[in-house]
Formats: sequence, C-alpha cells, structure tokens
Amino acid sequence: MSKIAIFPGSFSPFTIGHQTIVDRALPLFDKLVISIGINTEKPQYFSIEERMQWIKDVYNNNPKIDIKQYKGLTVDFCKKENANYILRGLRDSHDFKFEKNIAHINKELNPNIETIFIITPPEISHISSSIIRDIIKNGGDVSKFIPKEINL
Ligand code: ADP
Repeated sequence: MSKIAIFPGSFSPFTIGHQTIVDRALPLFDKLVISIGINTEKPQYFSIEERMQWIKDVYNNNPKIDIKQYKGLTVDFCKKENANYILRGLRDSHDFKFEKNIAHINKELNPNIETIFIITPPEISHISSSIIRDIIKNGGDVSKFIPKEINL
C-alpha cells in the first residue's frame, strides 16, 4: 500500500515555513497532496487560483507532489485521496495546543488516519502567513519569507 499524506492549510500565502515542512516530509511518503482548504465563512486575502498557482510554481516538476483544493472535513478529503496521513507543522506551544485537539478529533472521526507533525526549525518558527500578509498590505518586501519561485 502506498503511503499518501495530505498537507492541509490555507497557504495564504505559501511561505518558506510551509516549504520546509513539505521538503522534510517528502522522503517519508510516496505521495504528498498539498491541499488548500476552502472555508466559505472566512474570505481569504488571496484567491484560491493564485494560491494554487504559487504552490505549482514551487513544485511544478515534482512527481511526488499533487496540489489540490477541498471543501468540508479534512478526514473526508483524505478518504477521497486514499491518504492515511495528515501532515502538519508545529512552530510553538500555541500550535501544539491547537493541533493536539484537532488531531484527537480527526482520530475519532477516522481511526485509520494518523496525524504526523514536523517541528519547525527555530530560524523560521516566527514566520506565519498572517504576518506576511500584513507586510504586503503595508507595502513591505516579503521576498525572504517566501519561496524564490513566488513573486509577490
Ligand atoms: P491553517 O490555516 O490550517 O493553519 P496554514 O496555511 O496557516 O493553515 O498552515 C498550514 C500548516 O503549516 C500548519 O500545520 C502550520 O502549523 C504549518 N506552518 C505554518 N507556518 C509554518 C512555519 N513557519 N514553519 C512550519 N510550519 C508552518
């Protein structure tokens, strides 16, 4: 059975933090599906199309990576993609508290799905999409926080 993981998130925008998690997890799986969750109640600053395109620009030639969007429960999307693993990054204790509860709930919703965490390297643990958006809104340069393939 091939090992398929989904990496769910808003990726608004995709940062070097996300990229690090993907790159470090890739050797563990046969396929990694970077999955942009669509939350209709939370309008996003960047459109789903541009977020998908940016991630495609980064991983265009990687046969182990798929880029998809989904609505609804992450565990349901896992089933659709035949994925038994959910990948998440952990930056700090705040992430841990939040992620622990989601992982427990997902395990109850579908016991076949395991959540795998990768701890962020300290030098990028302060990077978040929301801070990047604030810099962009205020006309700052974000190039050092996002993959070099993305022009923002
Ligand atoms: P969500 O809105 O679901 O938290 P994000 O796009 O903000 O989606 O994050 C997706 C995943 O990437 C989460 O697991 C998050 O902890 C992780 N992540 C975000 N920023 C970083 C970072 N700087 N280093 C490592 N992981 C990160």
